[in-house]
Amino acid sequence: MRSIQHYINGQSIGIATQKTHAVLNPATEEQVAEIQHAASEEVNQAVAAAKAALSDWSEASIAHRTKLLYKFRNLVLENEHYIAELITEEHGKVHSDAKGEVARGIENIEYACGFAETLKGSYSEQASTGVDVYTIRQPVGVCVGITPFNFPVMVPLWMFPNAIACGNTFILKPSDRNPSAPEFIIKLMNEAGFPKGVVNLINGGAETVNQLLSHDDVDAVSFVGSTPVAKHIYESGTAGGKRVQALGGAKNHMVVLPDADIDLAADSAVSAAYGSAGERCMAISVVVAVGEVAEPLVNAISDRIDNLKIGPGMQPDSEMGPLISEEHRSRVVDYINSGEAEGATVVCDGRMHSPEQKGFYVGATLLDNVTTDMEVYRDEIFGPVLSVVRVQSFDDALDVIAENQYGNGVAVFTRDGGTARQFQKNVQAGMVGINVPIPVPVGYHSFGGWDDSLFGDTAMYGPEGMRFYTKQKVITSRWPDPTSSQVDLGFPQNT
Ligand code: NAD
Repeated sequence: MRSIQHYINGQSIGIATQKTHAVLNPATEEQVAEIQHAASEEVNQAVAAAKAALSDWSEASIAHRTKLLYKFRNLVLENEHYIAELITEEHGKVHSDAKGEVARGIENIEYACGFAETLKGSYSEQASTGVDVYTIRQPVGVCVGITPFNFPVMVPLWMFPNAIACGNTFILKPSDRNPSAPEFIIKLMNEAGFPKGVVNLINGGAETVNQLLSHDDVDAVSFVGSTPVAKHIYESGTAGGKRVQALGGAKNHMVVLPDADIDLAADSAVSAAYGSAGERCMAISVVVAVGEVAEPLVNAISDRIDNLKIGPGMQPDSEMGPLISEEHRSRVVDYINSGEAEGATVVCDGRMHSPEQKGFYVGATLLDNVTTDMEVYRDEIFGPVLSVVRVQSFDDALDVIAENQYGNGVAVFTRDGGTARQFQKNVQAGMVGINVPIPVPVGYHSFGGWDDSLFGDTAMYGPEGMRFYTKQKVITSRWPDPTSSQVDLGFPQNT
């Protein structure tokens, strides 16, 4: 059984007397690791290590930082199979999905490898006579990343490669529910040759996070997780004068218009709703069926659900694994019960999935005739439950989305370019897919929703990530002939 400790200043650290808890394999319910929660002194040690490493690291040349990032990228690639196994063992998602997560994480390291280009700054020669103006970007300082259970590798990789490329040092506080894969990749940073203290890892729960949030030597906080916690992180972090980006939960709508190809739309809805058992912040959880498309679409989705293979993530033919915990499994079942009680039609019922089987399974569930006042529609369920809301028109579909609390991802399925363009312009969400059900932006764009899906001003990774992890400095410079100098109390004007 693995024992997960903290990683501070280039070495594993853990005080044996600290609070621990068991990490389970959600497919078997067996314990696979034990994790220690940080003591207050370990949090202080991690911050002190990151602070001590800052001066040298921010002075390291672009060439040196880039070489180490490339090395790290290659090590993650060499170990992708093992990393994906760790993810599957503790998260439950199927192995091919876990490999996809690692691949999307590597994209972010690759973007960070090119930071020399992104952070070039800008230069205006002769902005005024004999005066040049230029902008440079400098590191923010000690940065913290707090990450959720559902992408234990990809989400940390959204953060720390970009942060350290920009010359910051970093402390990762991953989810305590599946800590082995994040611990493994942080150790790879050491193998790649990053100096001690540049990247550190602290395990724990709310107490650890709150200590990091209120620590005077922490300068910036990146958070990804549920909306109530994101709001708390944003409010308390900014109240303490820190730079904060906090990404929250989601309820992602897929609008299917009457002209859409039914098979394409049904394949996409099933893939995006039930992949990773719905534990994705970009999972489709609501299909908004416009007009007469509803009936054939519900039938096509239901047919596909009948053929889904549910089982342990390492079993080669499994398409959908278990949920993360028993507590979450019963929460999802409660939502299905509440949808049924509020009048939704249960077309496919995942509550019946192999009750005698070990593991935190819920089968793929399809609810039709869901209305926007139902709990099952309003709340983020984060499980394999897809709701169908029937509307009469394109405008009705846009209104449903606009009135929703969240604004993360959204998709439209149509064959009409003009309507798709109108959708892209008017829809109230941060990431839009046109015939693409999970529009997670590539590593060289940026990821972020609207409304209660993001608190703060910058999205994560890509160019916005680079802006978040740097402070802008603008320099105005001139080299006049001192003999022509004179006192002038007027406000400087550009001539
Ligand atoms: P969570 O909010 O429970 O936990 C996220 C992190 O916050 C963990 O590291 C956890 O230890 C810490 N935490 C939990 N409660 C806390 C508290 N009261 N105070 C301080 N810290 C606390 O989220 P989760 O269950 O791990 O992940 C699922 C959620 O994350 C879903 O809501 C999902 O939509 C969201 N998510 C969002 C995105 C996005 O990009 N918007 C991406 C992935 C996941």
